[in-house]
Amino acid sequence: MKVRYFDNAATTRVKEEVLKEMLPYFNERYGNPSSLYSIGRISKKAIEEARKKVASLINCQANEIYFTGCGSESDNTIIKGIAYSQRKKGKHIITTQIEHPAVLHTCQMLEKQGFTVTYLKVNKEGIINVEELRNSIRNDTILITIMFANNEIGSIQPIEMIAKIAKMYNIIFHTDAVQACGNVPIDVRKMGIDCLSLSGHKLYAPKGVGALYVRNGIEFEKFLDGGHQEKNKRAGTENVAGIVGLGKACELANFHLIEHMKHLKELRDYFIAQVQEKIEGAVFNGGIEKRLPGNANFSFPSVDGEALLLNLDAKGICASAGSACTSGSSAPSHVLASIGLSDELAHSSLRVTFGEDNTKEDVDYLVESLCEIVKKLRNS
Ligand SMILES: *Cc1c(COP(=O)(O)O)cnc(C)c1O
Repeated sequence: MKVRYFDNAATTRVKEEVLKEMLPYFNERYGNPSSLYSIGRISKKAIEEARKKVASLINCQANEIYFTGCGSESDNTIIKGIAYSQRKKGKHIITTQIEHPAVLHTCQMLEKQGFTVTYLKVNKEGIINVEELRNSIRNDTILITIMFANNEIGSIQPIEMIAKIAKMYNIIFHTDAVQACGNVPIDVRKMGIDCLSLSGHKLYAPKGVGALYVRNGIEFEKFLDGGHQEKNKRAGTENVAGIVGLGKACELANFHLIEHMKHLKELRDYFIAQVQEKIEGAVFNGGIEKRLPGNANFSFPSVDGEALLLNLDAKGICASAGSACTSGSSAPSHVLASIGLSDELAHSSLRVTFGEDNTKEDVDYLVESLCEIVKKLRNS
């Protein structure tokens, strides 16, 4: 059966051009980037080229990019790294209730070590209140970490406003942009972002590689001790092939951004309209304005989300309930709870995230299948 993939927020397929660029670095060009002979220098050069491409996607300098093992590692590195290096100045951190677990659990871990964390609420659209942010700032606030775009409901935060407030109070601002990178324009200089996390496998590069942008001049303690790689901030022989893949994916994302966004938005809006027209009682979760172009999230009252997913799977459709990171646990999504959904509605939710491979015909098949399954489950 043909697989139709609508879970691009969980991961994406590696693009052909990306894979092609990576392949030589597994065998022919296998040198250790730290070695001085020519095949080592070839690897080193490939990493530096990739660094420029990642930097170019978000408009920072190449030497402000650190390669990591994943988006979660980028989040851990910078949040703990700043907390530890600034602990003399203060121990207060501000974040939101709807962060990815890579940020939430890192903050909770810091709380156990004596830091204090404020978790900002969000409104029905999944957006923070900047006045509440301003009121949460204390003399000892050292870091504001607020995600660029949410992985479950796609809500996009007022990043430039947040950055302005952070700057006004001389507080470092980090954003988890794992979902946003490659899906919306990001310019860290113009937007005033100090630190940013991104991940390869969410933008058509492989799993196991991520990047962290840290504005020059910001101190942070290193997370992995060992060799001197990544300006002595991230020990371990580099994942050269993965880094090359991430570089290529960023280059392509940069080049195709406008048309990519348009494609996703067309599919999403068509899907939303079809569902609202054809499925009685469907509840759209989150807002439509400040939202990732490829994200749709619905609840179908009196339908069990897990049963819905299994039935979709039987038709070759991959989608998600809430988030990939919470599937397997029966607790309702913390994000859907934060935007005010009852447990019952949260348990009947479906997240559909479009990607570059999806077509309108795929969406027709999805809607047709959904109508049939929702009807069946409601009658059973
Ligand atoms: C996927 C995701 C992460 C984690 O990235 P990994 O590379 O899988 O560790 C972090 N934050 C957000 C918003 C994500 O969607």
